[in-house]
Amino acid sequence: MSDQQFFCEYCGYYSDNQERCSHCGRDIAELFTQPVWFRVPEQGRLTIRLSSPDHTEHIWRELAELWDRLERETSLGLYPGQMKKFPPTGDTLELYGSELEIRPVQELLKGRGTVEFQKLPCEQIPHRPKYQLPRPPTVPRNKR
Ligand SMILES: [Zn+2]
Repeated sequence: MSDQQFFCEYCGYYSDNQERCSHCGRDIAELFTQPVWFRVPEQGRLTIRLSSPDHTEHIWRELAELWDRLERETSLGLYPGQMKKFPPTGDTLELYGSELEIRPVQELLKGRGTVEFQKLPCEQIPHRPKYQLPRPPTVPRNKR
């Protein structure tokens, strides 16, 4: 066994093996043969699950800071802003994003939770609405 470590984006742990994660057993070969920056990142839903009920408040606060920065610094183009999902009740949070956000979230969690990414078709992801001309105000029925 080599002492090289490969970051598994599925479970957030390092694997000893480049083909199959020695932690969760998933096939991770393509994480290293097709770096995400060579292709258009997939859009979808990130499901973040904390692994322990301890310090959830603290972790969600750290994550909120990170996500706030990601929303401002990246062109996610997602709508509406998802900051109002913070802090979630419980230990699970779903956010729309792309696979590019998996790694920063995992690095913040440092094994305190997992991130699952599910690719979604574009039309299932809320995006910023295109600018629409304001509609004329409607007169309430009882005032006509
Ligand atoms: Zn793994």
